[in-house]
Amino acid sequence: MKNINQSTPVMITGATGYVAGWIVKKLLDEGHTVHAPIRSPENKEKTKYLDQLAAKSKGNIKYFKADLLQDGSYQEAMKGCELVIHTASPFIANVKNPQRDLVDPAVNGTKNILNSVNKTSSVKRVVLTSSCVSIIGDSKDTLAYPNNTATEKNWNTTSTLQHNTYGYSKVMAEKAAWDINKNQNQWDLVVVNPSFVLGPGINPNGTSESFNYVKALGDGQMKAGTFDMNMGCVDVRDLAAAHYKAGFTPEANGRNIISSENLSFLELGQMLRQNFGDTFPFPKKTLPKWLVWLVGPMQGVKREFVSKNIGYPWKVDHSKSVRELKMQYRPVNESVTDFFQQMIDEGIVKSK
Ligand code: NAP
Repeated sequence: MKNINQSTPVMITGATGYVAGWIVKKLLDEGHTVHAPIRSPENKEKTKYLDQLAAKSKGNIKYFKADLLQDGSYQEAMKGCELVIHTASPFIANVKNPQRDLVDPAVNGTKNILNSVNKTSSVKRVVLTSSCVSIIGDSKDTLAYPNNTATEKNWNTTSTLQHNTYGYSKVMAEKAAWDINKNQNQWDLVVVNPSFVLGPGINPNGTSESFNYVKALGDGQMKAGTFDMNMGCVDVRDLAAAHYKAGFTPEANGRNIISSENLSFLELGQMLRQNFGDTFPFPKKTLPKWLVWLVGPMQGVKREFVSKNIGYPWKVDHSKSVRELKMQYRPVNESVTDFFQQMIDEGIVKSK
């Protein structure tokens, strides 16, 4: 159980990213000094949204140059910090080289940061952004759980370098973090396991898969129908609050599922139609599994994925986060609507 001194700087990795943007905002609004090690601190296009936040807040932000794949590069930024929040990790669906583009930055990057934490005596707590994909691999796996519902006790055991590579990168990174944590007594580890993240970006032109998916719901890519799949969703602003609570609640511990509601892909489309009408080609139905199985490979959707994910439940239990982190969740309807509205305002999606 660690008490973090509020006046020490807080280091956050991946500050230019979608999830981290709102965590940085929360830290700045609470008056913290934020140490932000990023790949390109010289790129003003990347930092301008964070600079605008800092200008309007009580806190301040300082950039450092670092890369997940460059050992020791986070050391300078974590000097004097008691709290380190590690969010940086690629969230990309299609990569050329899964080991190089997903697994290495996730796993070696986590080891790189935690090895530096071990050498930085000021650090008392690390909050790691893992994922629900580190809990559930394929939707089919949930058939083995009571009420088909996963909890923090469950681990993704089915993703591999070839199958669900992103899930594999996240579960291997989280396991590496727990391994390093258990061999020392200086810092405790609190893991945040979010489901699919929705809501407006601090940078409205974010490149996280969250943007690609919600754009695809409204730009016609799914007008013939959506996959018959289920998932959990959480608002990016609530997720920022979860990271903050995980950092500053002394009793926070272990893994923490951060997810508002369990719902289907189709329900997300229905929420958008309800709020924006038929002016956008939102999906109206689900595609039959046999059809996706047949044509999926032509669109880069592997048959193994289709057979183990389409038509199965996907549910997580978020009660630990409500009980211990006092999480209050926005309804998904609000998150997806605010997100899509931002895409309309930015001209990212256009009505028919
Ligand atoms: P994102 O917007 O793509 O952010 C990823 C961040 O990681 C960016 O800041 C990126 O920096 C940084 N990064 C990538 N490779 C790097 C490297 N080699 N060295 C240093 N930094 C690197 O994605 P996100 O959705 O915010 O994801 C953030 C975290 O949340 C990830 O750990 C992800 O697994 C987790 N998560 C996301 C979701 C979701 O639905 N979005 C759900 C569960 C968990 P650049 O700006 O330089 O590219």
